[in-house]
Amino acid sequence: MTEKKWRTRMLGERHLSPETLMMGYGYDPLLSERSLKPPVFRTSTFVFRSAQDGKEFFELAYGLRQKRPNEEPGLIYSRINNPDLEMLEDRLAIWDAAEASLVFASGMAAISTTLWAYVRPGDVLLHSDPIYGGTDFLLNKILPQFGVTPVGFPAEGGFAAQVEAAQRALARGPVTAIYVETPANPTNGLVDLTEIRRTAEAIGQTAHRPIIIVDNTMLGPLFQTPLALGADLVITSLTKYVGGHSDLIAGCCSGAREWLEPIRGMRTILGTMCDPETGWLLMRSLETLKLRMNAAADNARRVAEFLSRHRQVKSVWYLGFLPAEHPDREVFERQCKSAGSTFGFEVRGGETEAFAVLDQLKVIKLAVSLGGTESLASHPAAMTHSDISAEEKLRLGISPALIRLSVGIEDADDLIADLEQALSVLD
Ligand SMILES: *Cc1c(COP(=O)(O)O)cnc(C)c1O
Repeated sequence: MTEKKWRTRMLGERHLSPETLMMGYGYDPLLSERSLKPPVFRTSTFVFRSAQDGKEFFELAYGLRQKRPNEEPGLIYSRINNPDLEMLEDRLAIWDAAEASLVFASGMAAISTTLWAYVRPGDVLLHSDPIYGGTDFLLNKILPQFGVTPVGFPAEGGFAAQVEAAQRALARGPVTAIYVETPANPTNGLVDLTEIRRTAEAIGQTAHRPIIIVDNTMLGPLFQTPLALGADLVITSLTKYVGGHSDLIAGCCSGAREWLEPIRGMRTILGTMCDPETGWLLMRSLETLKLRMNAAADNARRVAEFLSRHRQVKSVWYLGFLPAEHPDREVFERQCKSAGSTFGFEVRGGETEAFAVLDQLKVIKLAVSLGGTESLASHPAAMTHSDISAEEKLRLGISPALIRLSVGIEDADDLIADLEQALSVLD
């Protein structure tokens, strides 16, 4: 399977677009009984044609020798590689504008495996705030047990906050990695990746330049390409927009092969890879990714416009509404191709009013997560961000009146009608 992949990305002089390549890139039907679609390679292990083959595959997998020109790593065992995962990785790399990708059992598996590969006891990890709850727990509760010190800077603090935090971080030890989430969740605060690169290069003047890791789950892979903006590695929870149907958990890390190699080795040993069935489902999802993300983004704009005019809505944190004078506006225009479809809004009142609206919703489901075909609503202060201290929530603007919406691909007027009837309980 791996020797003769369908890897044509050109039609004569023409570069084929990602949405075209998603239908079959990396898959040769002639190697699978001419089946149009790739089968699920539900197998734990692969048969070697000869003992010599097995020896050579292992030499490569264990890094005992360099790859020969045009040599593909042979299939050995599904913790190391599997055709469904390899095809999926080839296709995800196209969207991320990356040399290669690695897929994992979850977004958190991608994040943790990447950090196990890149931080060591004594190191300092500089990161943006707020970050996804699971990542926050890993950075602030687990990594310190292994001697890694996290130092955060507020996403909304601009370059000054980054520089100040970098100085604090350097005083505590070598800064080996910078971890950024942009847009931040649920505030939609933006981190300027050009400035992050500047900070990393500045640290690199006197020490090793820290690796830049960006969590691109909120807008990726369509609406933001961090690797083109100075990041070394981009991580996506495939559970969200890429899977897109709220029926699987998976993650991805993309970048240059050289940066991915230690992570691949770590994945093989930790066993944090994705399974073939999920890999297959993700390839199916990738065929409609652009349609879904664009439809959801169009719906989100209409819903945000409706909310911004509603008498019971105090504020709408939709990226498309950033006023011209807001410092994030310029970053948004330079860095993001769309406002996406996940955003927060505050109702007039507090938790009681927010809960009343959430409990009244009929079409929009009350659940955490985002990026699915269906619309979801949640209450960050009481749910995803409940373990953050009260003053930290206040500083980040996660108020009791805040509701987070992940807008799906239903009829936009139905979603607006649902919000309208739910908000009417506050009249
Ligand atoms: C969901 C999410 C994750 C974690 O992904 P899982 O697939 O749930 O492990 C990481 N980062 C962000 C921004 C997320 O939304």
